[in-house]
Amino acid sequence: MIVMKFGGTSVADATAISALASAVADARADHPLVVVSAMSGVTDTLVAITAAMLHGEHLAVSAAREALRDRHLEVASDLGVMEQVHADLEAHLERLGTLVTDRRELTAAGRDAILGTGELLSSCLVAAAALADRGMPAVWCDARRVIRTDARFGAAIPDQAAIRQLAAQELRPHLDAGALLVTQGFIGATATGEPTVLGRGGSDFTAALLGAALDAERVEIWTNVSGLMTADPRIVPDAHVLAEATYDEAAELAAFGAKVLHPATQLPLVEAGIPIVIRNTFAREAPGTRIAAETATNAPQSVRSISIKRGVTVLQVRAARMLGAFGFLRRIFEVFERHEIVVDVLATSEVSVSLTVDPSPRLEQVVRDLAELGEVTLREHRAVIAVVGGAIRDTPGIAARVYQAIADVNVEMTSQGASTSNLTFIVREEEGPRVVRALHATFFGGPT
Ligand code: ADP
Ligand code: ASP
Ligand code: MG
Repeated sequence: MIVMKFGGTSVADATAISALASAVADARADHPLVVVSAMSGVTDTLVAITAAMLHGEHLAVSAAREALRDRHLEVASDLGVMEQVHADLEAHLERLGTLVTDRRELTAAGRDAILGTGELLSSCLVAAAALADRGMPAVWCDARRVIRTDARFGAAIPDQAAIRQLAAQELRPHLDAGALLVTQGFIGATATGEPTVLGRGGSDFTAALLGAALDAERVEIWTNVSGLMTADPRIVPDAHVLAEATYDEAAELAAFGAKVLHPATQLPLVEAGIPIVIRNTFAREAPGTRIAAETATNAPQSVRSISIKRGVTVLQVRAARMLGAFGFLRRIFEVFERHEIVVDVLATSEVSVSLTVDPSPRLEQVVRDLAELGEVTLREHRAVIAVVGGAIRDTPGIAARVYQAIADVNVEMTSQGASTSNLTFIVREEEGPRVVRALHATFFGGPT
C-alpha cells in the first residue's frame, strides 16, 4: 500500500478535488490510503476564530463560521455530492458552533478541537467525491482514533507504538478488504480521547506516521509544486525541481523554511527506509522528487537547495566569565529548557553564545533570566539562510563561493559543520530574498 497526502491547495475547490480524485484513481493498483489537509486558508480562519474568541468578538466568530459553512457547502454542490455529505458537514459545523460559543474560557484542548475542524470537513468532501466521481467506494476514517498523541496541545507529540497498534486495528481491516480509505492529516487525540493537533503543516507528518505504521511502500506528498526545488519558487522564479534528495537534506531544508515538507516528516520513515515522493496534484505527469536515505545520482554540485526561514530572533549572551569556565553553556541552555523555547542555530566563541529562536511572548522572561549570566542582546526580524547539500562539509570551496556571492551583505552569524549537509547564516530579514537569489545564481545559474 501507499499513503497519498493532499495539501490545502489540492482540496481548495471542486476543480482541485477532481484532480485529486484522478490522482487517486491512477494509483488504485497501489492501494492508497488518502490523507487530506484542510482547504487552503481554513486552518488560518480557525486560528483567527480562536483569537476572536479570546477578544470576545462574537460577531467576527459567527461570521467566520458562516463563511466556512458556505465555502464547504458550495464545493459540495459543485462536486455534485451534496446529498451524500450534507449531514456530515452540518454535524462537524454544529460541533464547531458548540466549541466556539462555549462560555467557559478557551482551553488549550478546546482550541485544538477547533483547529482540527478543517480536516474533518475537507475529508468528508474528498471521500464523497472519490465515491461519486470514479466509482471508488471510499471509507471515511477518523484520524483521532489512530493518531495517538500526548497532551501537548497545539503541537502534540505522537506515540508511534500506539499508532502502529491502532492502525492495525482501525485501518488494516479496511485496507485488506480493498477499501479506499480517506482520513485527516494534522489531527490526533490523547489516550483519554481529547482532540489534539500536530502543529502547523502537520498533515505531512500524519502521512509519514501512517506510512510507517502500515509499512507503506512509499509516502506521497501531493501539493501545488512539482517537487522539492532548488529554492522556494516564490522567491526564485527560475528555481527547478530536484529529481531526488536525501532524508537529511529534506529535513534540513524543511527545518529552515522550505514549507513544502513538515520538518518531522522523515522521522518515522528513516528506520524502515520508506521513501517520500513529492508530487504535483496539478501536473500529474511530473515525476516529482524522491526522498530516501541515498540518492542514485549526485547533483554536479554538492549544494542541493537553498532555503530561508524568516521572522527569526537572534539572542546573544556575552560574558567574560565564560572564558575557560565550565558549566556555562549548560546554565544558558537550562534557561531555554525552563521556558520551553526551541533553539535552532547556534554559534559560540570563547566569551559569547549566539543562537536563534522563534519569536515568543516568553522571550522577555528568557532575556531576564539570561541577564543573570551575562550581557544579553536581542535582534529581531532576522532570517536564517540554509545552503543544503549532503556533501557540503566535505567539498572544499563552498563557503568561499557563498561569501563571495553575498560579499555586500552583513552576515551576522554563521554555523557550519554541525550537520554534514548544512551551512547556515543569519542576515537581516529584508535582505533575505536577495541573498537567496544571489546564492541560487551562484550555485544553479540564472539571473541574480
Ligand atoms: P500544502 O498545502 O500542499 O501542504 P504548502 O503550502 O505547505 O503545501 O507547501 C508548498 C509550498 O512550499 C510551495 O507552493 C512553495 O511555494 C513552498 N516552498 C518553499 N520552499 C520550497 C522548496 N524548496 N521546494 C518546493 N516548494 C517550496
Ligand atoms: N491544515 C493544517 C495547517 O494549515 C495542516 C496542514 O495543512 O498540513 O497547518
Ligand atoms: Mg504543507
